[in-house]
Amino acid sequence: METVGFIGLGNMGMGMAANIQKADYPLVVYDVRQAATQPFVTAGARQAGSPAEVARLSDVVLTSLPGPREVEAVALGADGVLAGIREGGIYVDLSTSRPTLIRQIEPQFRAKGAHVLDAPVSGGKSGAASRNLAVMVGGEQEIFERIKPLLDAFGDKVFYAGAIGAGSVCKLVHNMIGHGVRQAIAEGLTLGVKAGVEAEALWQCVRRGALGRMSSLHDGMPRTVFRGTFEPPSFLLSLARKDISLATELGREFDVPMPVANLAEQLCIESLNRGWGDLDSSITFLLQEEAAGVEVRAPQVDVERAARFISTHPDAE
Ligand code: NAD
Repeated sequence: METVGFIGLGNMGMGMAANIQKADYPLVVYDVRQAATQPFVTAGARQAGSPAEVARLSDVVLTSLPGPREVEAVALGADGVLAGIREGGIYVDLSTSRPTLIRQIEPQFRAKGAHVLDAPVSGGKSGAASRNLAVMVGGEQEIFERIKPLLDAFGDKVFYAGAIGAGSVCKLVHNMIGHGVRQAIAEGLTLGVKAGVEAEALWQCVRRGALGRMSSLHDGMPRTVFRGTFEPPSFLLSLARKDISLATELGREFDVPMPVANLAEQLCIESLNRGWGDLDSSITFLLQEEAAGVEVRAPQVDVERAARFISTHPDAE
C-alpha cells in the first residue's frame, strides 16, 4: 500500500486522515498546530517536521488547507511539498482553492517527474468523519485511476471531472449555486413568516413540493436545457411569471426585500417579451447563456436515469 502524507488536519482533514488510517495506509502527518497530529501519531502515524519531509516520506501527499494562500505556501514555499516530492510522487490538493493556482503548481511538479491532482471535497465535517464525501478530481485520468482506491477510502462519491483545475471549478460552481439557492430560501422563508405562516409549515411545503424532490435538477435540466429544447413544456413560462410576480407582490405588501426573486421576475418578463410564454419556464436559462456567451448542453444525460437518481440516492441532497 502507498504511504500517504497528510498535511492540514483541521475540521475536514482530521476525518479524512482518520478514514485513510482506518483503511490501513501507512500515514505521515504534518500540521502547523502540532496538537492536531497527536491522535494520528498515537494511532501509529509518523510525524513529519515540514511539508517537504512529508513529501520525502510519502508516495502520495494530500493537503487540506484553508485556502489558496496556504496551498501556495505549503506546495511551493521553502520546505514545501515541491522541495521534497520524489520522482513519480503524487500531490493531491483537497482544499477549496483557486483553479488557476493549481494550474500554475502542476507544471512545476511535472518538471520534477511528479504528478498533481486537484480534488476538493463536499459533505462537511460530519461527511468527512463518516466517509460521506463527494470528491471532484481534476488532473491526468491515469493518475486518478491509480489512486482511486485511496480516494475511495475517505469519499463515497469520487468522480473524475477533467484536466487539472476541473475539480476546483466544479467545487466553486457547486458552492456558488448553493449560496444562491440559500439566498432564495432565505427570501422565501422570511416572506412566508412575515405573511403570517409558521416557519415549520413553510419548511414542510418546500420539502413536500417539487423543490423537495429537486425535480428541476434531476429531470428538468436534462429534459430541457441540456438538449436545448423547451417543448413540450411541463410548466409554462407564462405561468412561472405569474407565480414569481405574485410572490414579489406579496414581498412588497409585507416589506420583504427579495433581490433574487425580483431578479428572477425580471428575467421572466424579458423572456416573455422574446415570445417564449408558451415554452417551458426553464427557457429563462437562455438569457443567461446569451449574457455569458456560452451554451450549456449535455444531450447525452439520460433523463430517465437522472430522474431515478433521487429514488436510489435518498440522501443525495
Ligand atoms: P480548518 O481551518 O479546520 O483546517 C485547516 C488546517 O490546516 C488546520 O488544522 C490548520 O492548522 C492547518 N494549516 C493551516 N496552514 C497550514 C500550513 N501552512 N501548514 C500546515 N498546516 C496548516 O479548515 P477545514 O474546515 O478543515 O477546511 C479545509 C479545506 O476544506 C478548506 O479549503 C475548506 O474550504 C474546505 N472545505 C471545508 C468544509 C467544511 O465544512 N469545513 C467542507 C468542504 C470543503
